[in-house]
Amino acid sequence: MFYAKEKITSTVDITVELHDDNVFCTCPGCGCEVEIDLAELFSDGESDLHGTAVYCPDCSKEKLGVGL
Ligand SMILES: [Zn+2]
Repeated sequence: MFYAKEKITSTVDITVELHDDNVFCTCPGCGCEVEIDLAELFSDGESDLHGTAVYCPDCSKEKLGVGL
């Protein structure tokens, strides 16, 4: 089981189990919330949670349209 842990006060912290439907990131394009499929993210074998950005479907479309 993977989980996220965050300290709220010096004596209280929370843990949240990570599942494939409760992991999100902020789209670097528009700032909206994007649901992340960790299995898909890790499938490229070089995932780096700090260095990885995931665009929302709208921004992805825009990126692909401009980039290709
Ligand atoms: Zn976006």
